[in-house]
Amino acid sequence: MKVLVEDPLREAERIEGMVTRRRGGTLLRAYFMIGYNKPYTGKAVLAGMTGCNMRCIYCMWPPRNLRPRRVREESLLTPRQAAEKIIAAAKENNLSAAKIGGGEPTIGWEHTISLIRILEEESSLNLVLETNGIIPAVRGDIAEDISTTRRLVVRVSIKAATPEMFQKITRVPSAYFDYPFRFMERLVDSGVEPSRIKPVIMISFEDPRVVARLGERLAEIDYRLIRNAEPEIVLAYPDTLRRMKRYGRRLRPSPFDYPWDEEDRYMTLF
Ligand code: SF4
Repeated sequence: MKVLVEDPLREAERIEGMVTRRRGGTLLRAYFMIGYNKPYTGKAVLAGMTGCNMRCIYCMWPPRNLRPRRVREESLLTPRQAAEKIIAAAKENNLSAAKIGGGEPTIGWEHTISLIRILEEESSLNLVLETNGIIPAVRGDIAEDISTTRRLVVRVSIKAATPEMFQKITRVPSAYFDYPFRFMERLVDSGVEPSRIKPVIMISFEDPRVVARLGERLAEIDYRLIRNAEPEIVLAYPDTLRRMKRYGRRLRPSPFDYPWDEEDRYMTLF
């Protein structure tokens, strides 16, 4: 599978230039949705920020949400405007949680942390930040900022169990495989309680025995992260399935399909 983004940190800078605007002292950020749509958002309001520095083959969002050619003026919001929309959507749908994701919400971090602070101050919503962990692996200020929040839970997406599969799934070089783990290290070192860190592990592509080895890497950071880990499977949205077909990628028939003895059949499809 071809690498599409050679340097996801440089790509994040490029995307940030497109999806943010500074007005006065405030950083505005483009959103592709703020609201509730059960199949996509679960039991939470989703604040979906435009732009991402990865190209995951299973991503459920269309390319225009992740690498827009141009951003519409009305999609650009201040942190306060975004917070007001999130709180209103939660009230309207009787929800008690909000997911801040995207896209990649650490692109334009200054905006995102202001949004989180407003929501913590002015609502009782349970807050979840969903990140691919690449940018905050190299920026210590993000973990430091998170350590000063009160109830934010951070879901860190672990796209694959090996560097090779990481590259195939994200189309970012395998050298970045360890970055989400480095981010979790930063969070723990900054004093974020491990119960607020959730590694979310994609299990739709690999042998469960290989996936299970990730436990060793998590235990190196803090053994409690193993307990917090959540499995993630590819959701069968029509767009996602169409894209997977185009890439010749098949999902494992079932996430718990033991014994796993046909590994080669799946691995050679790339
Ligand atoms: S990191 Fe998330 S938003 Fe970005 S391409 Fe991958 S699945 Fe999509």
